[in-house]
Amino acid sequence: MKSLLQGHRSFRREFAAGARDFLAQLASEHQSPSALYVGCSDSRVVPELLTSSAPGELFVVRNIANAVPPFEHADASVGAALEYAVEVLQVGHIVVCGHYGCGGVKAVLDGHKKVKKLPSLYEWLDHLAPAIIESRLQYVDDDTCWRHAVEANAMQQVLNLSTYAIVRDRLEAGTLQLHGWVYDLANGHVSVFDAAGERFIDATDPSL
Ligand SMILES: [Zn+2]
Repeated sequence: MKSLLQGHRSFRREFAAGARDFLAQLASEHQSPSALYVGCSDSRVVPELLTSSAPGELFVVRNIANAVPPFEHADASVGAALEYAVEVLQVGHIVVCGHYGCGGVKAVLDGHKKVKKLPSLYEWLDHLAPAIIESRLQYVDDDTCWRHAVEANAMQQVLNLSTYAIVRDRLEAGTLQLHGWVYDLANGHVSVFDAAGERFIDATDPSL
């Protein structure tokens, strides 16, 4: 805990003290983030850091393995954040960002064995199971399989967004775009799903 408080003191010295006007302006207005970001709770994947986003720019939902349960099995926490982001904040983009090395995805690949004694986590990971199990059909080796499963899971969560009528309505109106990303812990690079090529390409690709 000491290190967290020390970190906060550094934040006050190095950021807040020099950003008084910016912070006061943020506090005096309603938030108007441009995107809803759905990512994993993994401590190594920090959405604001990897997108160079300032306070106020991202509306964030994080949970284990960046899940968006489909509407028919909706989770109230994710559903509430989604409704607020889409209907009230009117975000123009929703990003689902998975990450290579995701322990939640690996737990599903391993047949939930390691989470059998964690009933809430076990149930939560069931949201992910269909896409991950299907991705195993392309088995090459364990690492490749894990990477494919991470990608398949991210894209399944993007598809799950469309099970919500509020998302479908905005997509039909052309006022909302959905994006599937995968973050690489090892080098800090994001890959983005390219619908035309049906594959993930590096975020620096000039076609994006
Ligand atoms: Zn993860």
